Amino acid sequence: MTTGAVSISGLAKRFGTITAADDVTLEIAAGSLTAVTGPSGSGKSTLLHLVGAIEAADAGTIVVDGVEVTSLRRRRLSEYRRTVGFVFQRYHLLPALTALDNVIAPVLPFRVGFDKRQRARELLDAVGLADRERALPSQLSGGQQQRVAIARALVGAPRLLLADEPTGNLDSATGGQILDLLLDLREERGMTVLLATHEQQIAARCDRLLRLADGRVTDDLDLTAGESPASTLARATQLRL
Ligand code: ADP
Ligand code: MG
Repeated sequence: MTTGAVSISGLAKRFGTITAADDVTLEIAAGSLTAVTGPSGSGKSTLLHLVGAIEAADAGTIVVDGVEVTSLRRRRLSEYRRTVGFVFQRYHLLPALTALDNVIAPVLPFRVGFDKRQRARELLDAVGLADRERALPSQLSGGQQQRVAIARALVGAPRLLLADEPTGNLDSATGGQILDLLLDLREERGMTVLLATHEQQIAARCDRLLRLADGRVTDDLDLTAGESPASTLARATQLRL
């Protein structure tokens, strides 16, 4: 079953005098991959953090698969957070742990039995790193480290994957491969992906492109409407990503 339908209404977040999310209202289809673009400081990370409930909104609602996340407290909030995977620009792997142990890291506070190791191995296989499970992050390329980070984000079988500039540290060929992986995974696993990015080549290959400015959604393009990638890219270029 495809999960991860997100419905956002009147969402607002301020940091002092800065409005990082300004009356954002959006419907995000389950199983879609949406690019969140916009200049530095426009509120891309804030939107991802609000959807993942790692920041609390000042106003508005976020409903995920029919559950109002913005009103959850304590245990139910922690449960929700465990159904969301995060991927970051700088991977954030633990340098002393092998690739396999990095994938298991989110569940390490709990008992790690054979089944969890087996699941972590399957995830490393899914991201194309079955043969590197014993490697330390320092022995892996940037693209491989990001694959480990993606496998780690999948360990809780998330319905939502929130990727904050996941290709920002990679060359464009490697970044393209990471996007290929995310496109495949959301299909295979039926999850929804929100991907913040500065890169037009990445954004143009997503299903939908949102552009933010000062915390507001200023553009919202459906990229699945049967256009060629070249014309989509031209349109994205016009938007000055
Ligand atoms: P982006 O990811 O598009 O670069 P952010 O969501 O990180 O934008 O930031 C949006 C605005 O909110 C910026 O002006 C930023 O400085 C501010 N901001 C974000 N997080 C915080 C925070 N924890 N404390 C204070 N200001 C913040
Ligand atoms: Mg950011």
